[in-house]
Amino acid sequence: VKIILADSAGFCFGVKRATQLAFEAAAINPNICSLGPIIHSPQVVKALEEKGVKVVDKVEDIQTREVIIRSHGITAEELDHIHSRNLNIVDATCPFVKKAQDYATLLCSEGYSVVLVGEKDHPEVQGIISYTRGETVYVVADSTEAQRLPSKTKIGIVAQTTQSFENLVQVANVCLEKSKEVRVFNTICDATSVRQEEAREIACEVDLMLVVGGFNSANTTRLAQICKDIQNRTYHVETADQIDPRWFAGVETVGITAGASTPRWIIDEVVDCVKRMGDK
Ligand code: SF4
Repeated sequence: VKIILADSAGFCFGVKRATQLAFEAAAINPNICSLGPIIHSPQVVKALEEKGVKVVDKVEDIQTREVIIRSHGITAEELDHIHSRNLNIVDATCPFVKKAQDYATLLCSEGYSVVLVGEKDHPEVQGIISYTRGETVYVVADSTEAQRLPSKTKIGIVAQTTQSFENLVQVANVCLEKSKEVRVFNTICDATSVRQEEAREIACEVDLMLVVGGFNSANTTRLAQICKDIQNRTYHVETADQIDPRWFAGVETVGITAGASTPRWIIDEVVDCVKRMGDK
């Protein structure tokens, strides 16, 4: 079979950085934990566990002196709690997420009414809100929701890192009708859109599409959905051993992509597995 592997498949900058920091920290001190899984890849989390990194859900459950903060960050309250316990921190928060937190805080301190473009219940959004320390943050999903905002003297806008640029622009346009002064920080990270765009292109060209990544990873699941809408023979797998040889009947071209939290070694195993199936 012919294989088309997406250039953008696998780790984004923030996940790569977080994973590296975690492995380095564990090599120095194997008695360490992470608050929540570092990234949404059960295989990476397991590999880290084997190096000593335990995953805990709450700050009160931490029994080590050192804690790693996951790539999409934690809330201000959790951070305060960690400080109050005098624990050492390995901060693997993605710098793009950190920027969104910092800009929201800056806008608040400069008297702007903050509008956050994103999904209300998402942990990243909850994190950004928490750093404004009790100030009102208006979370809007899109321009329709922005229409319902009250008029304000000055509005400051930030976006959840996974938002689309078009959505941010549309919300900003509506805000201009609500205020004489609008300040926009484009805090979008393009890792998601780049992966989705390339996956779409590849799905159009192949007989079968494999999307590799954690079942708990929202961005991988979304990638699989996008591909499935184009190519019905799309399969979301976490590892190579989930690939079924029967999928390949009559298939000449296979497309492979992977979510932003999928490590290279799993992608390589999938590619090798597909090659073997194609040779049969
Ligand atoms: S998707 Fe973007 S914001 Fe999220 S961890 Fe990766 S680089 Fe950072």
